[in-house]
Amino acid sequence: MRKHLTINKCCSLHRHGLLMLIAVIVVCLCLAGFEGRRAFADSSALPVIIIDPGHGGSDRGAAGPGGLPEKQVCLDLARRLQGIVGQKARVVMTRSEDYGVSLVQRASLANHNQGDLFISLHTGAGFTRTINGHSIYYDLPPDRDPGQGSSAGGKDLLPLQWDCVQHGHAMSSARLAQSLRASLAQISMPSAEPDVFQAPMVLLHGLDMPAVIYEAGYLTHPTMEKRFEDAQYLDSLAQALAAGIFDFIQN
Ligand SMILES: [Zn+2]
Repeated sequence: MRKHLTINKCCSLHRHGLLMLIAVIVVCLCLAGFEGRRAFADSSALPVIIIDPGHGGSDRGAAGPGGLPEKQVCLDLARRLQGIVGQKARVVMTRSEDYGVSLVQRASLANHNQGDLFISLHTGAGFTRTINGHSIYYDLPPDRDPGQGSSAGGKDLLPLQWDCVQHGHAMSSARLAQSLRASLAQISMPSAEPDVFQAPMVLLHGLDMPAVIYEAGYLTHPTMEKRFEDAQYLDSLAQALAAGIFDFIQN
C-alpha cells in the first residue's frame, strides 16, 4: 500500500513537474511572440527594403516599339512599390529620379543602409516582338573562396571578396524569389507565373542581404509596352510585389 502510494505520489510529482514545464514553455512562447510583435510595431525596428529602379540617366535600358524607355518603366513601378511597402517598412530607393547610378553605388547604398532585402526592377527585351514572359533572378555567385583576398602581383588587395558576399544569402534569396513568384502568380501577367532562375548577376554579387532582380515582362512586346503605360496595371504589379516582400519578411 505504502509502495502504491509512493508510486502515485511519484507519478503525481512527475505530472506536476510536466505541467510546470509545459506552463513555462507556453509562457516563453507567448513572451517571444509578444517581443516579436513589439519589435515590429517599434518604428526603429521596421524592416529596411531597398528598391532599385534599373538604369537611369543616359542609360535608357531597353525600349518599346513606341519608344517607351525601360528606365522610365522601372522608376514608375519602383515609386508605386515604394508607396505600398513604405506603409510598413523603411524604403531606400537607389535612385528616385532620372539619373545614372553605377552598380557599385547601388550595392554600396544598399549595404550601408543595412537592407533586409534588395529588389531590382527591370523589363525584358527580345530580338523579336513576339517574345514575352516575366522572370525573377537570384545570384549564382562567382566560384571563389569568400575568405580569400584578390591578389595582384602577389599582394592581397582586399581582406574580403565583396563580389562573393552574396554567397551567404543564396538560400534566403531563393526563398525571396519563390515568395515573389507565388504572389505574382495571383495576378494577370504575361505568363501564368514568373520563371525563377539562378544565374551570375554582377549587380547582386556584392549585396549583403537577400536580393533578386525582377524582369517585369518584355517591353519590346507591343502589348506589354501598352501595359507598362497603364497606371492600373503597374499598381496591380506593385501590389503583388509588395505582398511577396511582406510574405518573405513575415516568414
Ligand atoms: Zn534592365
